[in-house]
Amino acid sequence: MPMFVDTSPPGQCIFCRLVANEIPSAKVFEDELTVAFMDIGQVTPGHVLVATRRHAATLLDTTPEEAAAVMQTAHRVARAVQAAFQPPGLTLLQANGALGGQTVAHFHLHVVPRHEGDGIALTWPRQEPPSAVLASHAERLRAAL
Ligand code: AMP
Ligand code: ZN
Repeated sequence: MPMFVDTSPPGQCIFCRLVANEIPSAKVFEDELTVAFMDIGQVTPGHVLVATRRHAATLLDTTPEEAAAVMQTAHRVARAVQAAFQPPGLTLLQANGALGGQTVAHFHLHVVPRHEGDGIALTWPRQEPPSAVLASHAERLRAAL
């Protein structure tokens, strides 16, 4: 079952329409595989989204080339954010599926400048399982690669 049940017709999701300039946006950078634009819900000033040009709902729907291109654009945008806004921190966030925190079903990566007391929080319920459990998880993953 896909992570995100995408109900919009092909090419008609909100980011497909933004990529095609059918709705307004503040674009920052475009290349063959990616588009970077200002997030309409600026969590902090300079918050950018880097999306695939082609519609792909989640990371699992992208090609390896698209996934790499999104990170390459994010790297370029991150350097521009650092130069233009000089935040003391920078977080990249990428959500997949409603349970993963994704609200727009078109693959995108957040580039978020960070500041003291900016109110951004992610609960991280750390656990420390025995090494045998880690080895077993690693074995499952190696078998799936
Ligand atoms: P996520 O929750 O990771 O799927 O992030 C979706 C992001 O898309 C949110 O931060 C929204 O503010 C942003 N967003 C939704 N519609 C638009 C739009 N038309 N232009 C720019 N950003 C948008
Ligand atoms: Zn789309």
